[in-house]
Amino acid sequence: MGENGLQEFEDAVAGMRTIKPCRRCFFVYENGNPVRGNRASGVSANSNGVDGLCDICRDPRRVQGVIMVVEKETDLLSLENSGKFTGRYFIVGEIPKTGVLEEWQKLRLQQLKSFIQKELGGKADEIILGFNPTSMGDFNASLVSRELEPFAKKLSRLGRGLPTGGEIEFADDETLGSALERRN
Ligand SMILES: [Zn+2]
Repeated sequence: MGENGLQEFEDAVAGMRTIKPCRRCFFVYENGNPVRGNRASGVSANSNGVDGLCDICRDPRRVQGVIMVVEKETDLLSLENSGKFTGRYFIVGEIPKTGVLEEWQKLRLQQLKSFIQKELGGKADEIILGFNPTSMGDFNASLVSRELEPFAKKLSRLGRGLPTGGEIEFADDETLGSALERRN
């Protein structure tokens, strides 16, 4: 392996090490992208993951009390790319077809609840259920809403404006934007 190959290999390993889920929203993010050939400048205070938060959760401009619950990373990315949502996210993970939450999902929800209790005074301003407008999505939304209802002043559901049977991750930005505006 030449000098360049070695550097690439080291960067790749460093990259793997820094990929981890955000401790608040569970978005798997790459913390501090190592700069190729210049490792020293690629490491900032945040890239050590001291706070364990992703860029979205760390961003002070994001509304703290508005939380969008989604199943998958790809849903988060689609919604985020629409550029219309100013709150934060929470990834509950794909809900099994059995309709029973996995233990790790219950733990995630528990973590969200304690965050809301500690940081948001017991109730979030709004929790938006960002589930697909499918019958499965409806079922999952009601499952999660039962869990989170006591922890939100307002509980809303994304989906109006989304084509019925469609999926969030495949919707275009405009559709997602109007689904956000017309949530209820
Ligand atoms: Zn996060």
